[in-house]
Parts: sequence; structure tokens; C-alpha cells
Amino acid sequence: MREASAGIDNAEVIDLETKYPQGQEHQVIVAITGREVPSGSLPMDVGACVHNVATAVAVSEAVRRKIPLIERVVTITGDGVRRPANLAVRTGTSIAELLEHCGVKDNVAKLLLGGPMMGVAQYTSDIPVLKATSGILVMTEATLYESEMCIRCGECVAHCPMRLVPSRLSIICESRDMDAIAASDILDCKLCGTCAYVCPARRPIVHQIKFGQSELRAMTANAKK
Ligand code: SF4
Ligand code: SF4
Repeated sequence: MREASAGIDNAEVIDLETKYPQGQEHQVIVAITGREVPSGSLPMDVGACVHNVATAVAVSEAVRRKIPLIERVVTITGDGVRRPANLAVRTGTSIAELLEHCGVKDNVAKLLLGGPMMGVAQYTSDIPVLKATSGILVMTEATLYESEMCIRCGECVAHCPMRLVPSRLSIICESRDMDAIAASDILDCKLCGTCAYVCPARRPIVHQIKFGQSELRAMTANAKK
């Protein structure tokens, strides 16, 4: 990348600290420019536009070669995969076929669409690769946690990269308190999973917030209708 950008005046390769979450839009903008995107605003409001590598390649293919987005690189990995790989596959390809290609072990217990922090568990591999499919994680152990009451330790608050209060957000979502959800900053949550990862009470914080976000969006859409 450094060699490729060496002769280009307005391009620079910048190393970022290895930490999670680093790749999310807001975190990338802060890390590179020092600018924070205010709540409810878009990156362009602070003069930034973030594209991941796959999007940049897709734009290049569309503009220079007139090829629409018909394939993407999908990572197939996890301890349940015999031959982990990054594969360029057509959208619509069956995930079951990709798993067959890479070989899965007999004791597979869980299939996640996405990575370990943000991936969504699937009950079947009979699903297609979509434009947004980035990875498939195959695990041989599916640990089920018993969730307990919030002990107000503040760990989730201390670690939330969006400076939210995940404990409170999860509680108002759990109680289906739509007035409180609508008045909250729940849509600022990027579902990074950090709060759930650090929570000693193993509260399903992200699950609750995701539910609250979808309820709020549905409520807003209904109100507009
Ligand atoms: S998932 Fe949790 S840690 Fe991540 S942005 Fe949302 S509330 Fe914050
Ligand atoms: S980390 Fe878990 S237990 Fe601690 S305040 Fe947050 S939700 Fe409550």
C-alpha cells in the first residue's frame, strides 16, 4: 500500500493501533483526524467519508470496468473449519457449499454470520452470500451463559467506544419501555459487542439494544405512514 501510494500527492497510508473496535466508521475518523461525529450526525458532517476496502474495490470495478457488485471476498474460519480461507465468491452462492469446500469438522456447534464480536448465530447453513456477507465463523463449542441481574459495576460504561450507558439501554429495552427508548441515544450504538464481552453478569446487552433499535425504527416508520 505504501509503494502503491508513493507517487500520489493526496494519499497517505496511516498505521492504526490494533484494538477493538478500530475499524468502525466513527473510530476510524477519530483515530485519523481527531474529529468526533456528533450524535445523530453523519461522517460527512465532519468532512469525512469512510469506505472499507471491499467498497472501494467495488466502486473501482463499477466505474472503470462497468462490472456491478456480483461477488465479494468472504472469510471462512473458526476452529470448526478444516481449511480456513478467504474466498472470492458470487453473491447468491450457498454458504453450505462454501463450508463443504473448506471442510467442516464433525463436532460443529455454532455457525456465526460475521465475526466473533458482532456475528449473528444461524440455525442453518442453507443461506446465500449477500452483498454484506463478510465472514462465516464455525465454532466447535457453543457456550450458553446464564444471565444475571446487572450489578452496576460500570464495566460496560467504561468500555463503550460510543460513550453510552449500555446497562441502562439494555434495561429499558428489556422492559419494552418505548418512551424511554425513543428518548435515549440508542441509535448511536454500533452493536460492537464490547459491553456484552466485558459484562461480568453476562447480560445480553447487545441483543436487547438490537431489539430496541429495530422496535424504535419500526415505530418511527409507522408514525411517518
Ligand atoms: S454494543 Fe455496547 S459497547 Fe458497543 S457501541 Fe453499543 S452500547 Fe457501546
Ligand atoms: S457491565 Fe454488566 S453488570 Fe456491569 S454495569 Fe454493565 S450491564 Fe451491569
